[in-house]
Amino acid sequence: METNESALVLHSGGQDSTTCLFWALKNFKEVRTLCITYGQRHAHEVEVAQKIAKNAGVSFQVLDASIISLLSDNSLTNHGLIMDQEKPENSYPNTFVPGRNLFFLTFAAVIARSHGIKNIVTGVSQADYSGYPDCRDTFIRSANVTLNLAMDEQFIIHTPLMWLSKAETWALADELGVFDIVRNDTLTCYNGVIAGGCGHCPACKLRNDGLKEYLNRQRL
Ligand code: ZN
Repeated sequence: METNESALVLHSGGQDSTTCLFWALKNFKEVRTLCITYGQRHAHEVEVAQKIAKNAGVSFQVLDASIISLLSDNSLTNHGLIMDQEKPENSYPNTFVPGRNLFFLTFAAVIARSHGIKNIVTGVSQADYSGYPDCRDTFIRSANVTLNLAMDEQFIIHTPLMWLSKAETWALADELGVFDIVRNDTLTCYNGVIAGGCGHCPACKLRNDGLKEYLNRQRL
């Protein structure tokens, strides 16, 4: 990888995107973060993301994309909906925000282009429990081609977590020397509780099960 290049990281302040931020700091000369808000439940995610970016010494930009939450109904932005705890058999859980990653990548590419940046880093993972379609590798490759054609650019979308389980994502944070930062300073919980979280929402379950698995492996 070209280490003298710059990268733009889509950063929400959660475990995955924060691990990606430090992955980018290891692999690129200059790193910027972009935090996109879309009316999600835990609005103080932004403050969490800003603090992490500040401590990491990288520039931080917030983009208000709350229009996304007006386009369809989902339990991350509609506080009246009870959040699905598991994936329903023939559909996606109501935590799915249709089009979210396509919007995110499009905004990121336009902003990256304005800074002369070609590398875009996102923490999506195909191993994610709910299998959101816009977290799959096929979608990312397709979006990459589309964005390149749309702007006549040569963007490269990096997805360091694509094939990692949650336990492996914890291992990566450890390998990057930021295990404690990711464990204590990030916010993944759908109920807006930092670090270990509320413990019972789907995001907490995934994060905490992965952590337990990783720590158990360390003890063997
Ligand atoms: Zn939670």
